[in-house]
Amino acid sequence: MNTTEQLQFIVDLANKDLANIREGDLINLQDDFERFFEMSDKERMTPGTIHYNPPKTGQRYPAKNFPAIQTELKTLLRNALLPAWTALVDGESTVKPTDIKFQRIFIPGGTIVYVGNHRDLFSLKLGYLLQNPKLLTNVRQCEPCGKFFFRVRRQKYCSRQCTLRTNKKAYLDSLREKANLKKKRGRK
Ligand SMILES: [Zn+2]
Repeated sequence: MNTTEQLQFIVDLANKDLANIREGDLINLQDDFERFFEMSDKERMTPGTIHYNPPKTGQRYPAKNFPAIQTELKTLLRNALLPAWTALVDGESTVKPTDIKFQRIFIPGGTIVYVGNHRDLFSLKLGYLLQNPKLLTNVRQCEPCGKFFFRVRRQKYCSRQCTLRTNKKAYLDSLREKANLKKKRGRK
C-alpha cells in the first residue's frame, strides 16, 4: 500500500461497525490489514525506507483483536485532527502512553526494519502516519455522527444526512432563541 492507500485504510477501519461486520467484509479487512504493512518492490529497494515485519503466521489476523486496534486508532486519529496541543489538559496529554514492543534491524544503506507483533507494529506505523499533517489535510471528523471522512472542497459533514440534520437543528435552535427573546421582552 502507498501512503494514500494506508490513510484510506485507517479511515475505513476507524468507521467500521466491527460488532456487525459481515464475513466477506471481515476477510477483506484482514487482507488489507496485512497489506498495510507491505511495500512495493520499488519502495523496498529505495534506501532510507522503514519496513514493518509482522510475523507470517499463514493465518488471518484474529477478528477478536480488531476492536482494541480500532479503539486506539480512533483516539489517535481524533487527536491528530485537533489543532496543535489542544489534546492537553493542564499540560498532560489526554492520550495515555502506549506500550509498544519491537526489535529494530538496521540494514546497510540506511534502511530500518521493525520486527514485532501485528498490534505493536500497527501502532508504531500509525504513529508515523498520523504525525504527517500534510497527509491529513482533507481528513475530517463529522461532528454530528463522529465518522471520519475525506473532505471534498469545503465539505463540513460526512453525508447529506448529517448536513440536513445539522441544518435542521440550527433552524430549531434559532426558533427557540427567538421564542425565548419574545418571552423575555414580554416580561418587561
Ligand atoms: Zn456524519
